[in-house]
Amino acid sequence: MRKAWSILPEEWKPLLVERGVRPFRAEQILQALYRDWIDDWDQATTLPKELRERLKAEFPLTDAEIRAVSRGLDGTEKLLVGFEDGEAVETVLIPARDRFTQCISTQVGCAMGCVFCASGSQGIVRSLEADEIVAQFMLGRRRGEITNIVVMGMGEPFVNYDATMRALRLINSGRGPNLGARHVTISTCGIVPGFARLAAEGIQFELSVSLHAPTDELRSELMPVNRRWPLDELIAACAAYTRQTKRIITFEYTVIKGVNDSREMAEELARVVRQVPMAKVNLIPLSPVAHRPDLKTPDEQTMLMFLDVLMKRRVQTMLRRSRGKDANAACGQLRLSRAATPMRTTSPHRPSSPVE
Ligand code: SAH
Repeated sequence: MRKAWSILPEEWKPLLVERGVRPFRAEQILQALYRDWIDDWDQATTLPKELRERLKAEFPLTDAEIRAVSRGLDGTEKLLVGFEDGEAVETVLIPARDRFTQCISTQVGCAMGCVFCASGSQGIVRSLEADEIVAQFMLGRRRGEITNIVVMGMGEPFVNYDATMRALRLINSGRGPNLGARHVTISTCGIVPGFARLAAEGIQFELSVSLHAPTDELRSELMPVNRRWPLDELIAACAAYTRQTKRIITFEYTVIKGVNDSREMAEELARVVRQVPMAKVNLIPLSPVAHRPDLKTPDEQTMLMFLDVLMKRRVQTMLRRSRGKDANAACGQLRLSRAATPMRTTSPHRPSSPVE
């Protein structure tokens, strides 16, 4: 069955006409969905009851619901969003002074197997449908107006390309939620065919690439995807993407103590990144993950040394702080819910105080 939260605004009219419903109803439906933000067709009171019943039967909004909420001391909130088949994903809401960012998931688990990431530590269960991705946003926005989306939750967006793109196009649509394309960042571990596909979309989403190592030897050890698409292919795809779209790529580099944090690595990273015009680097200290207690967070000094090496080589670099660590909501900490033991879990209707 098609879910209303997977239908693009321009698709409503033909769907209605096919069913013998007058086309002007499409506009009323869009108003109900994305201006009144109904969470049930019964609330769409501009529609006749008979049509509401048909919509309920044929196009339910979604079957997703919030199963649990955990809160970090820094105001970060992690929602466990569950689906009809019992599976669930995590989405994280991250307040900052001038923005309210949501980190969304695209798969239940992940097949990529990056060694430092909890999301793939138990493998993949399934990809999400478009409405299940949209549902994370629709449930998230009830807790505050979302200004930015990062597709950096569980899963690899380029492995679930079609559903991810449909969901993001819906969220971006001017007749839908109307979140600006430049406020949406897609992050990939380096599925090379995805770059040309995204470039061909002609939409200005931001693109991040998880790099984490500047040599094939180390990258293949940390990220199995590198064995399929090694660095020279990845970097060529990034450069082609930038040339075609004129859009800047951001490389994510998670710094792991004693693994990828030497001065030589920083120098090599600068060399690699400079092959992509205008590219930027985000340096993120590793978030601790339970399945690999041997992997450690680097100290501040190492982060600053890395920053210094890159800056001296004129690579635009930012030091990032991953938010929500105490709620297991930080980068790399999202994992399959059945095994998850979220901290400060409360019922969705009685969120715990942020200061406990
Ligand atoms: N599969 C996509 C989307 C996930 S984004 C991708 O790989 O880009 C999540 C980001 O957090 C990625 O950059 C990932 O490499 C990073 N990450 C994973 N584990 C981490 C950890 N333990 N500490 C810090 N960052 C981590």
